[in-house]
Amino acid sequence: MNLVIFKFSNFQIFKLPPVKENFPLKTYNTFGISATARYFSSFASIEELDGLLSINQPTGTPGKLPLLILGGGSNILFTGNFDGLVLKNNILGIEKVREDADHIYVKAGAGVNWHQLVVYCIENNLAGVENLSLIPGNTGASPMQNIGAYGVEIKDVFFELEAFHVYEKTTVTFNLYECEFGYLFQFISHAGYYKFVFVFTFKNAVAVAKFTFC
Ligand SMILES: Cc1cc2nc3c(=O)[nH]c(=O)nc-3n(C[C@H](O)[C@H](O)[C@H](O)COP(=O)(O)OP(=O)(O)OC[C@H]3O[C@@H](n4cnc5c(N)ncnc54)[C@H](O)[C@@H]3O)c2cc1C
Repeated sequence: MNLVIFKFSNFQIFKLPPVKENFPLKTYNTFGISATARYFSSFASIEELDGLLSINQPTGTPGKLPLLILGGGSNILFTGNFDGLVLKNNILGIEKVREDADHIYVKAGAGVNWHQLVVYCIENNLAGVENLSLIPGNTGASPMQNIGAYGVEIKDVFFELEAFHVYEKTTVTFNLYECEFGYLFQFISHAGYYKFVFVFTFKNAVAVAKFTFC
């Protein structure tokens, strides 16, 4: 069954992405586990996320249903059906947002495939993330997991991220210091209800590579 929901925002009514019931997650996790989500949808903007969350918390109180934000599904092992709302982050877009003498700052949507972002940097002669090529998953999970490989971790290039507080419905920017990254430290556990990263910005060395080989 699909639920069709409309959201009233900024004096406009827009239709939210469909919410599907008993949705099969087999193709949404790399283990290929045949679990189902009681409800499933995806969002491509913060407005859609906001609208979809309001169906889960109609009274504004937290915890109506368990909530899971899904990226590429490469670091999730379903041990059964998920009796809650799964929201897949499809926020896309990569852009250079500013530049100084040492760095170019690149902002990426949480739904961008991580390796595609690395390829974008290589093709644009931006150094810093090339050791992290071919790590499975999406950009949004990279600071949540502090992904790392070959001596480089996200914290080495991280500039800031924007997160959405799922109950207060506010957007907050966290810088490197505020994220308190550790080895594979999960920002998600640190940040409480700031569950949904939707964009994150990192700095690349201009042309000159900062390689570490091991
Ligand atoms: C073969 C293989 C090789 C790997 N190699 C490496 C490696 O070299 N280095 C490394 O660090 N990792 C590695 N990993 C782990 C994996 O690639 C990372 O953990 C990756 O960041 C997972 O991204 P994802 O989008 O698939 O996350 P998912 O599996 O979808 O989600 C993982 C967790 O992050 C949360 N999450 C996802 N997106 C968001 C978001 N936008 N906002 C808030 N929370 C979010 C989810 O709720 C969940 O708790 C490997 C995995 C595999 C399967």
